[in-house]
Amino acid sequence: MNRNVLIAGGGIAGMAAGFAVARAGWQARVFERAPEFSEVGAGVQLGPNVTRILQAWGLGDALKQVAAFPAGLHARSMGTGEVLATLPVKDAVTTYGAPYVTIHRADLHGLLLQAAEGEGVQVFSDAVVQRVDGLPDGVTIDVFERGQIQQHMGAIAVAADGVWSPLRQQLLGDGLPSFTGHIAYRALVAQADLPAHLRSQDVSVWMGAQAHVVSYPVRSGEYLNVVCLAEGRLLDDDANNLQALQTWNAKKSEAQTVAELHHALRGACAPLIDLMAACSDWRLWPLCGRPVMQGAHEHAQGRVALVGDAAHPMLPYLAQGAGMAIEDAAELGAQLAVATNTDAPLRMQAFAQARWQRNARVQARAVRNGQIFHATGPVRAGRDMGLRLMGARLMDVPWLYGYGRS
Ligand SMILES: Cc1cc2nc3c(=O)[nH]c(=O)nc-3n(C[C@H](O)[C@H](O)[C@H](O)COP(=O)(O)OP(=O)(O)OC[C@H]3O[C@@H](n4cnc5c(N)ncnc54)[C@H](O)[C@@H]3O)c2cc1C
Repeated sequence: MNRNVLIAGGGIAGMAAGFAVARAGWQARVFERAPEFSEVGAGVQLGPNVTRILQAWGLGDALKQVAAFPAGLHARSMGTGEVLATLPVKDAVTTYGAPYVTIHRADLHGLLLQAAEGEGVQVFSDAVVQRVDGLPDGVTIDVFERGQIQQHMGAIAVAADGVWSPLRQQLLGDGLPSFTGHIAYRALVAQADLPAHLRSQDVSVWMGAQAHVVSYPVRSGEYLNVVCLAEGRLLDDDANNLQALQTWNAKKSEAQTVAELHHALRGACAPLIDLMAACSDWRLWPLCGRPVMQGAHEHAQGRVALVGDAAHPMLPYLAQGAGMAIEDAAELGAQLAVATNTDAPLRMQAFAQARWQRNARVQARAVRNGQIFHATGPVRAGRDMGLRLMGARLMDVPWLYGYGRS
């Protein structure tokens, strides 16, 4: 049991946590319920606060192989296509000491998995963690694997089991997350299949009424990731089936999706309509969430830490959910690097204290960004004028990107 860490969930948070604690000298086992890791998902943006950690972990070269390095992040009007302001994210290396990258989620996951296994982390798939229990000097988890329940013992456990986290529900008893009223529609398109005027190596955020579209390059710039985020209602079938839709790969009929996108993008400019029309095979993700974190108890309970979306699901409007999972992992690793089995609960508390306010702030800012992106009427006019006048100064977020910089 001594110095064994049991991790539920093998997504970005679980893999990053496995790597970080192994690097800190603990033995980690990751239990993932999916039978295999697949190429599912879409793109993620990673700010310099996150790439700084990946570089410190020695993963900078691996990142360079698969990520794209956009020069600018453009805030645009959905109606006219006008660029209202540009954040020159290529300057992140100079300003914040690390790059701003865009990457396919499967590539990020793949490099974390490889790094974790390289540190000796054991990864088990088709292994569903059902519950966690405390012992006087350790923990046990019950895992359904190979057709039966197996019990594993460790010094600490980590719940990295995502927004629907069964372990969170057991530990905090705060029920299931709820639908936020926002739906993400995602597609990937090869840049080579796009006409020249639609290809891009930059990030664009096209802001409309109650909807926006984000596009950016992934897979070393060979593909464009396109996501439309729209406020709307779910069909009854989908509303009753929310958890099943959280697979990174859910879809509904192309005709239904196109009709919903058409509604979300009413009044959009021709280049955006052309870009959306060039995409196919749309995937759907109804965004579910929880209230902003209220305290350290949501990050740790005794010898169990909660990381990533299990602790703090967030709207993707600050593009930091995976980033916060990686920051959580780095902090957990830093605490365990100086922990013994005996003082592990104190270290879990220190981890929770170090993380919860930062995550709460990012969650709240993501909600606010959504309101700004989707504004209508005078608020939209004020936003656009502010962006035109203040440009990058309004878009930069130093407290976010500069975190942890020595
Ligand atoms: C449309 C969209 C765009 C986004 N864009 C960005 C972005 O640009 N930048 C960014 O940083 N973030 C972004 N995010 C957020 C980011 O994707 C998530 O915050 C991140 O993937 C959370 O990782 P996680 O490991 O905590 O959860 P998940 O990725 O959900 O992983 C949880 C894992 O646990 C497993 N699991 C669940 N229950 C069990 C169990 N009982 N036993 C074993 N395993 C279990 C699941 O199968 C899964 O593999 C975006 C999200 C969305 C929806």
